[in-house]
Amino acid sequence: MPGRNFLFVPGPTNVPERILRAMHRAMEDHRSSAFPELTIPLFRDLKQIFRTTTGQVFVFPGTGTGGWEAALTNTLSPGDRVLAPRFGQFSHLWIDLAQRHGMRVDILDVDWGEGAPVERIEEIVTQDAQHEIKGVLIVHNETATGVTSDVAAVRRALDAARHPALLYVDGVSSIASIDFRMDDWKVDVAVTGSQKGLMLPAGLAVVCASPKALAAREQARCTRVYYDLGDMAKANPAGYFPYTPSIPMLYGLRESVDVLLEEGLENVFQRHLRLADGVRAAVKAWGLKLLARAPKWYSKTVSAICVPEGVNGADVIDVAFRRYNLALGAGLNKVAGKVFRIGHLGDLNELMLLGAIAGVEMAMRDVGIKITPGAGVAAAAEHYRTSAAPLGPGVVAPQSPDAQQASTGSKPPPPPAPRAAVRA
Ligand code: PLP
Repeated sequence: MPGRNFLFVPGPTNVPERILRAMHRAMEDHRSSAFPELTIPLFRDLKQIFRTTTGQVFVFPGTGTGGWEAALTNTLSPGDRVLAPRFGQFSHLWIDLAQRHGMRVDILDVDWGEGAPVERIEEIVTQDAQHEIKGVLIVHNETATGVTSDVAAVRRALDAARHPALLYVDGVSSIASIDFRMDDWKVDVAVTGSQKGLMLPAGLAVVCASPKALAAREQARCTRVYYDLGDMAKANPAGYFPYTPSIPMLYGLRESVDVLLEEGLENVFQRHLRLADGVRAAVKAWGLKLLARAPKWYSKTVSAICVPEGVNGADVIDVAFRRYNLALGAGLNKVAGKVFRIGHLGDLNELMLLGAIAGVEMAMRDVGIKITPGAGVAAAAEHYRTSAAPLGPGVVAPQSPDAQQASTGSKPPPPPAPRAAVRA
């Protein structure tokens, strides 16, 4: 099909040209004396992405699932009790992984469309006077439902109960796109993958462990080999790995961290919020609903949109793909067929999203969903236009042809109409 594929699944995300070029290189000796020049600054700078000074970042070949496994097996033992809310496919799968490693999981089932139930968590840890619960597992951004949980509030709940459980956070679809603070929130192990906010292909599991988590490793009896933080901790300080790392992925990661830090993490988060708000404006204009039940749960990186009764969300996705070369995220597990998802994270801008919103409109109409053509595009475009940052100094503000004509006399041209500042 001519033209670009519009990739709007919530991971893998678009890989910027700059990162693709950085990865396109000859292989080199990962045991050479020059290799640490790449890796040591990379390990150091990755801490900024996790917003930590005390945590240690580990880069494993793998994906988010491998990161989950590394997080749990390095810090827990079979039979350990952990508390985990379940509110979507990814929280479900992490629980399954913990159970398969022999952990006893206290599952807190929550309606899909809501996030971590902080009050219930606080009640349970307060009642656990013997401190049997060794860990609390939170999926920060549930990619399956487009719901973001309040990790800082979970930390406050643990502190209020003076409970020592380790706080584990899945940041696979939040880290590098949504505000995440390892140190401020006293997160013990955070996990991400390379294929979302980091804008790389899948292939790396990036795990950050607090000093408390690394200390817990000494007692943790789960079997671990490939994902042993200990082996990594021995090799990494000198700039090496216990096995052959993926050279292109490491160069890509270096470039990704540079791209993110050059834009500035706060700006990255702000851009994601603004793009997400445009999608939500479109959803409202279509007369549809998000699966996320309330604005406090709305995700900046993915929107799960409910299709009307009698329509199969999978049909919207299929038509969008086959007819318009637009890839949307599917409804998973309990919400299969009931939603489709627009991923709005990574290397994206307004016009790319408007293209996706236009494709969604066409596909929805093709499958018989009654929406006004152009309604979503207009609402999102208007949001992006009115929330655009003021043009920087030295940039000539575009004027209408009439204004240009009026300015040819001795009078200076009228100043451009002020634009609304970026939303705080
Ligand atoms: N956690 C979340 C929130 C995810 O969105 C995903 C994948 O989309 C995973 C974990 C699993 O990661 P992976 O597919 O990279 O193993």
